[in-house]
Amino acid sequence: STSIGRTGLVGMNVGVLALQGDFREHLLALDDCGVTGKLVKTESDISGIDALIIPGGESTTISKLAKAFGLFDLISKQISDGMPTYGSCAGMILLAKSIVDPASDQDAFGGIDMEVRRNAFGRQTESFEVDLDFKAISGSPIRGIFIRAPWVESHGSGVEILASIEVSGKNHPVAVRQGSVLATSFHPELTGDNRVHRYFLEDVCKK
Ligand code: GLN
Repeated sequence: STSIGRTGLVGMNVGVLALQGDFREHLLALDDCGVTGKLVKTESDISGIDALIIPGGESTTISKLAKAFGLFDLISKQISDGMPTYGSCAGMILLAKSIVDPASDQDAFGGIDMEVRRNAFGRQTESFEVDLDFKAISGSPIRGIFIRAPWVESHGSGVEILASIEVSGKNHPVAVRQGSVLATSFHPELTGDNRVHRYFLEDVCKK
């Protein structure tokens, strides 16, 4: 129930990477879960956070800015050391082990044993919305807003698929988790439904 959830979340320091993208919407979603997020822009912002959210936006820009601001290796290391992390859309790309056809200079922090394909749904379907069956979240379907979204092209056996979309008879994962790292191709932060954020805070972070 909501009240039990809120009690358990008090005192968590959740950072939202605020270099580019829709970090404000993630902050609002956290707020709605009873958690005051902290914008992360500098090295010193990172000390003291227990968990991190990487927003949607442009993964090439976020990766370049993270390098320019001296955050790239630090974030990568914190994730590999077990800091709970959630990435939506561009954030999913940044949590991949590898990227199909990356832009030049584009690197990912890593965190999930997966390869992602950027802009995977093609030019004709750059943006769309669809109801998703999200394993681990009960109740009504999760509304998926996809904007030039990636999908998971391939993954290791340690990766749990939480939601997928069928395209031309093939299933493509669009929500995955490996241990304390969660990624979605879509943007729950744009829907006003905080259940994915709540799942991150109450389940993924408490692993
Ligand atoms: N296509 C973007 C990228 O490659 C992701 C888009 C998004 O985050 N909505 O980073």
